[in-house]
Amino acid sequence: MISRRRFIEQTSLMAVANCAFAGIGGANEDALTPDPKLLERAKVLLNKAPFIDTHNDLPSMFLETKAGDLTSFDMSKVQPMLCADIPRLREGCVGAQYWSVFVESGTQKKHTSLHEALREFDVVLRFIHSRTELEQARTADDIERIHQAGRIACLLGVEGGHMIENSPAALRTFHELGARYMTLTHWGNVDWADAATDEPERQGLTEFGKRVVKEMNRLGMFADISHVSADTMRDTLGVTRAPVIFSHSNAFAIDPHPRNVPDDVLRMMPKNGGVVHVNFIGAFVSPRRMPNSSRSRKRR
Ligand SMILES: [Zn+2]
Repeated sequence: MISRRRFIEQTSLMAVANCAFAGIGGANEDALTPDPKLLERAKVLLNKAPFIDTHNDLPSMFLETKAGDLTSFDMSKVQPMLCADIPRLREGCVGAQYWSVFVESGTQKKHTSLHEALREFDVVLRFIHSRTELEQARTADDIERIHQAGRIACLLGVEGGHMIENSPAALRTFHELGARYMTLTHWGNVDWADAATDEPERQGLTEFGKRVVKEMNRLGMFADISHVSADTMRDTLGVTRAPVIFSHSNAFAIDPHPRNVPDDVLRMMPKNGGVVHVNFIGAFVSPRRMPNSSRSRKRR
């Protein structure tokens, strides 16, 4: 078992190594230099329509590196040890950012998931409120208003249904705090849904799991079906009354990692109206970039 942060570090290092090996870096660096005209066109488009990033791990990094002490970081400058900062969000023309509220799924065994989740909500809300460049968004209209004002709209995504500890009251409280999606599982199964990277126990969603999805529909939270098993994806698409999202998943046919999306599920998406947001962690893009420790289905 390795932490998610360690996993991201490993895969990022491998991606850099693979680029160098493939001759992408160094002498061929020009190949990565964008065409200035295309870049200008992209910036004009992103000025009109907000670019929405649905997954950013920064809140966990605040807690893991400095126990959530935001005075330890000057976020107006590039922070090489973190995955994001204001200059890079601006350079990337990010219009709206979903900040990930994440705790390891193993915490459910100790019944500390909800407690740990509150620390994540606390640090990300403190961060949003500490920066004039950021503003919390609760609706789609908020995103447009904040983007037009030149600020970055901030929304929260809960990465793992274990954090509600089987409590609809916790789900509703998360929504009140600003969560606008919840990933139904993370690496391990929850009592009411199977994860992609655990042994199947429920063959998808239980009846309680279906009620969780319906309550999310009622509240106005996306059901995020990244990380869940293919059966849980299909069950969710069968029961939801609103579009779902994959906040960070890629195509199984391209890279057969268990947490990527199989073709039959991709074919269900147009009717649902949902969106698959891709990620660029090496292991989920190419099997050649998968570290040995992530090949096991039992890894959490
Ligand atoms: Zn994830």
